[in-house]
Amino acid sequence: MMIERNKGFANLAAGYLFPEVAKRRREYQAKHPDAKIISLGIGNTTEPLTPHIAKAMADYAKSLGTAKGYSGYGDEQGNAELRAKIAEVLYPKMAKADEVFISDGAKCDIARIQTLFGRNVKISVQDPAYPVYVDGSVVVGAAGASSKKGYKGVTYLPCTAENKFFPELEKIPADSIIYFCSPNNPTGACATKAQLKKLVDYANKNGCIIIFDAAYYAFIRDDKLPRTIYEIPGARKCAIEINSFSKLAGFTGVRLGWSVVPSDVKFADGTPVKQDWNRVMTTLFNGASNIAQAGGLAALDKEGQKETKALVDYYLENARLMEAALTGENFKKAGVKVYYTGDSPYLWVNFPGWKSWDIFDKILDECNVVTTPGSGFGPAGESYLRFSSFGHRKDVQEACKRLSKLVL
Ligand SMILES: *Cc1c(COP(=O)(O)O)cnc(C)c1O
Repeated sequence: MMIERNKGFANLAAGYLFPEVAKRRREYQAKHPDAKIISLGIGNTTEPLTPHIAKAMADYAKSLGTAKGYSGYGDEQGNAELRAKIAEVLYPKMAKADEVFISDGAKCDIARIQTLFGRNVKISVQDPAYPVYVDGSVVVGAAGASSKKGYKGVTYLPCTAENKFFPELEKIPADSIIYFCSPNNPTGACATKAQLKKLVDYANKNGCIIIFDAAYYAFIRDDKLPRTIYEIPGARKCAIEINSFSKLAGFTGVRLGWSVVPSDVKFADGTPVKQDWNRVMTTLFNGASNIAQAGGLAALDKEGQKETKALVDYYLENARLMEAALTGENFKKAGVKVYYTGDSPYLWVNFPGWKSWDIFDKILDECNVVTTPGSGFGPAGESYLRFSSFGHRKDVQEACKRLSKLVL
């Protein structure tokens, strides 16, 4: 006898998007050693931590080396002061401190949420989407084997230019978990209050729970757009929000995130989801790093908020430079359409008549610029490329210069 392989892993199709991007870049560089390749393909932050936040973490780390400042395990749900600060700054009148749970990041919270709901739930996702919603569901067995139509048990909701990147909700089955990301990775689309109201109403009417990924909320500059799903009446009954300091404060490496689980979200038997989430966080998680949490507190005070706004503004300016380059005459003539809202780090760009990987190769070859093929995020992403504004300004400027000379 031997131990059977976990079917969840056997069912996972090869996750080839980012490894394939890296492979093509490597092979191109090997053939063209002098090429100065610039990446506009990454979803990783590039600019340093800001001074006030970095100092708070350094000071905290130093104090851990003293008898007075040392502390061991903290509360698994997070430092009470940080939970209160998040509730006060980001969810005034919308969520209470004891509904906020501090974690080591949004991706990790999404994985734990999948443990919470187990294998007997239906899954609905936007197409295209951030890969962990589906892949994590496959691992826990909530989604089955993959075929041309995608994974069994997953309802894909195409988000296209035709529907303004907001899905047809009627496709969502009753009693489904709905993963919804806004501002969206990869499309950059930002749902309006009216759109989210429709989503919340649909979820409440059909027994669904929304997992709302707001990791890019700090990029929203249009005051009319909702920055949290709890701005929508009724959301406290059906929505869990997942959030992160990663894109807000450059904490991709530091690791700090949070979830909001309102007391009003309930299972069919009346048990508050929060009760089981508290159990997941205390049983399977042991608290976020106390140094990272000190940084999180600093990020949310007055000085920290000023700094993180400037940090995000830097990336938004990169995005504007790219938008200008990609709407130049050469692109316009080829019918290229740039979807950019001004409220996200990503530009979603349609190249009519091209397959995503073909236009990826052409831009790598002729501009030495790496992008991300839209088809890698789901079938509705075919013929698109995602351009990321995470990068140093001079690299972005150089990439834009090269793109302006591209002949399509
Ligand atoms: C980057 C990103 C996250 C953040 O994940 P962390 O684990 O907090 O770094 C979450 N959701 C989406 C859609 C992202 O792009």
